[in-house]
Amino acid sequence: MTDANNMIREAIDPEEEAAFLDAIQKWIDKEVKPVVQKYDHDDVWPAEIVQQMTEMGLFGATIGTQYGGLGLPAVTYAKIVALISSYWMAITGIFNSHLIMACAVERFGTEAQRHLWLPKFASGEIRGGLALTEPNAGTDLQSIRTTAVRDGNEYVINGSKTWISNGINGSCFALLVKTDAKADPRYKGMSLMIAPKGDGFTTGKKFKKLGYNAIDSTELMFENYRIPVDNLIGGIEGQGFFQATGGLELGRINVAARGVGLSEGALRLATEYAQLRESMGKPICEHQAIQLKIGEMVTRARAARLLTFDAAEVYDRGERCDLQAGMAKYFASEAAVANSQEAMRVFGGYSYSKEYDIERLYRDSMLMCIGEGTNEMQRIIISKQWVKQNPA
Ligand SMILES: Cc1cc2nc3c(=O)[nH]c(=O)nc-3n(C[C@H](O)[C@H](O)[C@H](O)COP(=O)(O)OP(=O)(O)OC[C@H]3O[C@@H](n4cnc5c(N)ncnc54)[C@H](O)[C@@H]3O)c2cc1C
Repeated sequence: MTDANNMIREAIDPEEEAAFLDAIQKWIDKEVKPVVQKYDHDDVWPAEIVQQMTEMGLFGATIGTQYGGLGLPAVTYAKIVALISSYWMAITGIFNSHLIMACAVERFGTEAQRHLWLPKFASGEIRGGLALTEPNAGTDLQSIRTTAVRDGNEYVINGSKTWISNGINGSCFALLVKTDAKADPRYKGMSLMIAPKGDGFTTGKKFKKLGYNAIDSTELMFENYRIPVDNLIGGIEGQGFFQATGGLELGRINVAARGVGLSEGALRLATEYAQLRESMGKPICEHQAIQLKIGEMVTRARAARLLTFDAAEVYDRGERCDLQAGMAKYFASEAAVANSQEAMRVFGGYSYSKEYDIERLYRDSMLMCIGEGTNEMQRIIISKQWVKQNPA
């Protein structure tokens, strides 16, 4: 494995971090809140929001300053993602999937690859995502069928990917392929490539989804699509499975942070509504049934936040954090589902109205249990890591 870059990140000055989060909150209040329902209900790509996120530097949030990024530690990044997700989770997917692609290049790429691609990723000039899943292979990534066959100084790629976030609006993807379809074990034949759109690379239609609207999810098709061998991340074949899964804990921290945001957003909406809505002559927050719900929701949201920052701190120290990131992703995503469901009950019949935001959080939250490794797999990973660290 080529883990060329030192990814240790110092915590930033607390005042600087607070000022950054304050600027994000002001942007949410002014630009995001007024448009979220329209974009979400109409399922339309939010071009001006993406432009504003580009101007704020979010497409380079975790990319090193030497490449033009903000170089933020994972802890600050998680706070930003949680804050935005507490109002509109889907827009964080537009820069998060992109940053996971960038992370693969920064962490595992050659020096030439880092200097060529990262400045363009950081500025948002090139935006994209991560292309792993195929119609027959989601959890079982080793079953992918997309192949890359070397032909001189190029790879010829054939196959297809599905469910790829930013697939239509993005222009470049970290693409998982088989460079040796006969390898045993299978993961040794897998490689990760930097795949910009070009001849032979086409996309399907935007999928219609339960939630996570506005951002596009689609199929990517490759038919004799050629890229230079220089686009093989790290320059050595057979490293892709590790680079795409075990190496990218940042992806799990990012999904955990989205779960934190959804949990806290649902709590905020329920807390406000429970004080304004009256029944039997008093605000519903004074009924014990609602107090029990809010008490559980506060606790879950807080626990999700602490687990997520714990994982982010380990990541920032440059240490492997499979166990911590898995626990954070698992717990925070389940907290998002539980809190949004409980908030629906607090809102009673009005939860079912499209005029209230809570229905969006309810629809969006379930995705957190699926993306970046399903929660079934997370618990298996947590258990394996735990037993490994605690030999009898
Ligand atoms: C909105 C959305 C956006 C997405 N964006 C992206 C993206 O940008 N890039 C990308 O590459 N993919 C993306 N995905 C795909 C996502 O990562 C996969 O859906 C996910 O990995 C699960 O794979 P699957 O859907 O094939 O489910 P399956 O793998 O078929 O799993 C079905 C069920 O079986 C369980 N299961 C499967 N195998 C095991 C096992 N060995 N042990 C225990 N349980 C198991 C799973 O936990 C799950 O409950 C996205 C998906 C969605 C819905």
